[in-house]
Amino acid sequence: MTHIAVFGSTNMDLVAYVAKAPQRGETVTGREFRTLPGGKGANQAVAAARAGATVAMIGAVGNDAFGSGLRSALDHSGVDTDLLRTVEGPSGTAHIVVDDDGGNAIVVVPGANASLTALSAGDTAEIAAADALLLQLETPLEGVLAAARAARESGVRTLLTPAPAQPLPPELLAATDLLLPNEHEAAALTGIDDPAAAAAALLSQVPEVVVTLGAAGSLYAARGAAPVTVPARRVTAVDTTGAGDTFVGALAVSLAEGTPMPQALEWASAASALSVQRPGASASMPYRTEIDGAAGGTA
Ligand code: ATP
Repeated sequence: MTHIAVFGSTNMDLVAYVAKAPQRGETVTGREFRTLPGGKGANQAVAAARAGATVAMIGAVGNDAFGSGLRSALDHSGVDTDLLRTVEGPSGTAHIVVDDDGGNAIVVVPGANASLTALSAGDTAEIAAADALLLQLETPLEGVLAAARAARESGVRTLLTPAPAQPLPPELLAATDLLLPNEHEAAALTGIDDPAAAAAALLSQVPEVVVTLGAAGSLYAARGAAPVTVPARRVTAVDTTGAGDTFVGALAVSLAEGTPMPQALEWASAASALSVQRPGASASMPYRTEIDGAAGGTA
C-alpha cells in the first residue's frame, strides 16, 4: 500500500456563524458554534488516508481537551498518530467567524504547532520510509525545511503547499519536487497575477508546479513540457473549505501509485469536486471508492 508522511499543523477550528461579522468594539449574537478538527497538515493527512494510502502524521497537539480531540479525530480517520507529540500548553486553534454572505475572518493561534522546529529520529525514519512527503507552511519554517531535507536525502518526493503564503527560503524550494499554490499564493510568491505566467516563473525554482484555480480547475507546469489545464468538475458547491487539501491528498496518493500526472490531476479534481458538495473540511473528504466512482476509474 502507498505510504504518505505528512509534516504539519493540527488545529481545532472554532467556528461562529453570524448574520454579520462584528466591527471592532462591537458584540453580536451568533447563530451557531462548531468545533471542527482542522489544520492544513491534518486535513491533508485525512484526505490522503481516505484516498487509500496509509498515512503517518508528524505534528504536535497541546495537553488540553482540544489536543485529545484532535488526536482521536485523526485516529478515527485511520491516520497513524504515533509521531503526533503532545506538548505542554494549548493546541493550535483557528478562530473563525463566518457571516451570512459566506465571508469569513480568521485568527490562527499556532499553540503546539510552534514547537515543530526540528525532527526526531523517528520522524526522519518515517519520512525516509514514505512514498511521498506532504508539507505546508502553518508550522515554523525551520521544521518544514528539516523535513524537506530529510526527504531529499532519502529520495522521497516532496509536495509543498505554500500556505499561508510567505517568502520561501531558496533551500526549501530546492528540496521541493512539486509546489502546489492556489492562484493567490502563486501571485504572492511571484508578484505575477496571471496563474500560467506565475507557474512558469516558479519553474526556475522547482521542477513541477500545480496551481489550483478553485471552480476554474488547475494548471500543471513542468520544466521542458507544455502546460496542462484540468477543468474542475461542474458541480453545485455548498462549502469549498478544504477543497485544496482534498486535492493535494488525493493527488499525492495517485502520483505515489505511479499514475501519470494528467490522470492523477483528473482523479484529484474528482475528489475535490466531491468535497465541495458537502459541508465541512475533513468531514467532506471523499473515500477512495467514491473518488473512483466519480472519476470513472481507479487512481
Ligand atoms: P481551500 O483553501 O478552500 O482548501 P484552495 O484555495 O487551496 O482551497 P482551490 O483552488 O479553491 O484550493 O480548490 C482546489 C481544487 O478543488 C480545484 O483545483 C478544483 O479542482 C476543486 N474545486 C474547488 N472549488 C470547486 C468548485 N466550486 N467546483 C468544483 N471543483 C472545485
